[in-house]
Amino acid sequence: MHMQASRVRGVYDFCTWPKTAKSVTSVKTLWNGACAATGAGMYAALIMESHTAPCASRSLEHRNATMTTDEYFMRLALEQAEKAFAGNEIPVGAVLVRDNRVVAASHNRREQFHDPTAHAELAVLREGGIKSGNWRLADAVLYVTKEPCVMCAGAMVNARLGRLVYGCRDERYGAVASRYQLLHDPALNHQVRVVSGVMENECADILRRFFVKLRL
Ligand SMILES: [Zn+2]
Repeated sequence: MHMQASRVRGVYDFCTWPKTAKSVTSVKTLWNGACAATGAGMYAALIMESHTAPCASRSLEHRNATMTTDEYFMRLALEQAEKAFAGNEIPVGAVLVRDNRVVAASHNRREQFHDPTAHAELAVLREGGIKSGNWRLADAVLYVTKEPCVMCAGAMVNARLGRLVYGCRDERYGAVASRYQLLHDPALNHQVRVVSGVMENECADILRRFFVKLRL
C-alpha cells in the first residue's frame, strides 16, 4: 500500500494517498461490511445500467449502504474522468445526484473549451441548477474524483450544496482539506458536509496514468 502511495507521489503529487492508514481501513471495512450485509444481489443491482442506487432500511445496513451508494456514484464520476482522459484533459469527473438519481454528469473540459472555469464540478453545478430551476442545491450530492480547487469549492458554498463526496486528495491545490478548508469556514454563509476517500486509489490512479502518458 505504501509503495503504491509513493509511486503516485513520485509520478505527480497532484493526488496522494490518505495521510493515515486508518481511513483506508475504514473504507475497506465498510465496503466489505456492505458486501456482507447486502449480498451479491445488491452488488448486481449496483452495477446495472440504472442510475438509481439501492438503499437499505435497517440502521447498520443503512450505514453500509451509504458507502455502497457513494461508491456507485463515484464509479460514474470515474467514467466521466475516463472521458476527460480520452480527450487529453486532466482526468477529473463529476456527477450531481438528487434522490439517488443523477441530475448531471460531466468532466474537465478546459482544453476543449479554452475555458479556465470548465472544471467538472462547475459543469454539474450549472447543469443541476438549470435542470432544477433553482440555483440552490441544498438537497443534492456532488461526487467528484479529486478534491475540488478553490474555484469549485467556492461555487459549492454559493450553491448551498448539501454534500460533497470526493475520491483522492489534491495536496497542492485542494480547497476542502489539503490547502484550504473552504467548505467548513465559519466565516462563510454555508458549510458543506464532506465525505472523502471514496475509491481514492482508482481516482488517484487515473491521474497518475494521465501524467505518465504526458511524459512519454
Ligand atoms: Zn475546480
